[in-house]
Amino acid sequence: MKLALVGIGKIARDQHVPALAGSPDWELAATVSRSGKVEKVQDFLRIEDMLQARPDIETVSLCLPPVPRFAAAEAAIRAGRHVMLEKPPGATLSEVHELKRLAERQGVSLFATWHSRMAEAVAPAKSHLSGQRILGGRITWREDVRKWHPGQEWIFNAGGMGVFDPGINALSILTEILPDPVHLAWAELDFPKNRQAPIAARLAFSSNIEADFDFRQEGPQTWDMEFETGTGTLALRMGGNVLEIDGARVGGADSIMGEYPALYARMAGLVRDGASDVDLSPMVLAADAFTLGRRNSVEPFEF
Ligand code: NAP
Repeated sequence: MKLALVGIGKIARDQHVPALAGSPDWELAATVSRSGKVEKVQDFLRIEDMLQARPDIETVSLCLPPVPRFAAAEAAIRAGRHVMLEKPPGATLSEVHELKRLAERQGVSLFATWHSRMAEAVAPAKSHLSGQRILGGRITWREDVRKWHPGQEWIFNAGGMGVFDPGINALSILTEILPDPVHLAWAELDFPKNRQAPIAARLAFSSNIEADFDFRQEGPQTWDMEFETGTGTLALRMGGNVLEIDGARVGGADSIMGEYPALYARMAGLVRDGASDVDLSPMVLAADAFTLGRRNSVEPFEF
């Protein structure tokens, strides 16, 4: 199946292009970007031009930041194309609800991807926790924004979500693996004086689960989740790729490179089945943190 990739930035280059190159299901047939290109692939500056020139491309994968994503998704769906959305699936919940309705009306597949849910240890963690009582948990998601989002001004603009851009990956795992849903009970968000989005946040959920998100981590990076259950402990490390039960490593991978191939395999299945997959539960928790959270003003941030 032919696919167009829109927004040739860091994640398109690091993950989407290699995953597509190795996929038995997809051919990267076109790109849309103002500055980025992929060798030997037809490139367009505007999505409208690609949609008009290439009616043979049935699927569009959007790697844009969240704010410009809705307009591109709407154009592709209205043109009768299946659409795959990078995470978070939009800048607002209501716009993603609208995309979902539009995709149903147009009879196309819409996939709101959560790449961290495809991490190696997430499915085994979910099955281990099934039927268990969660007594408490800690999420530590601390990374260096300069390393993972070099010069990306959009991430600290309104709608860019700041530290919730990576933090929502933790929330996507949390909402996938817990036997029962949790709700946000408390939050505190640190906004740099010169920015519109938080650089750090601390959250508390029901079931005694706490989260610590920070974009200022230099040196070793941490993407860990630890839970106490009625029968012992479970930890996910490396962003859901390594599993520990009662302190002993029981499985997983030391690499994150399996996540995007799994996303594209899932998208191929959705298109073949005429189905969609749009789960907004991670974004609901993030939106609640912006609604409920206390705001602190902290040191200005420059890349
Ligand atoms: P990025 O490097 O800034 O790339 C985004 C691309 O979108 C840009 O290259 C830009 O290409 C295009 N674009 C179109 N309109 C834009 C606008 N108004 N502002 C900025 N860029 C615009 O960002 P990224 O890191 O690839 O992230 C894109 C999405 O992937 C985000 O939702 C992010 O959460 C997600 N993601 C990122 C990572 C990561 O490690 N960086 C990991 C997983 C998921 P042109 O200027 O050429 O049009």
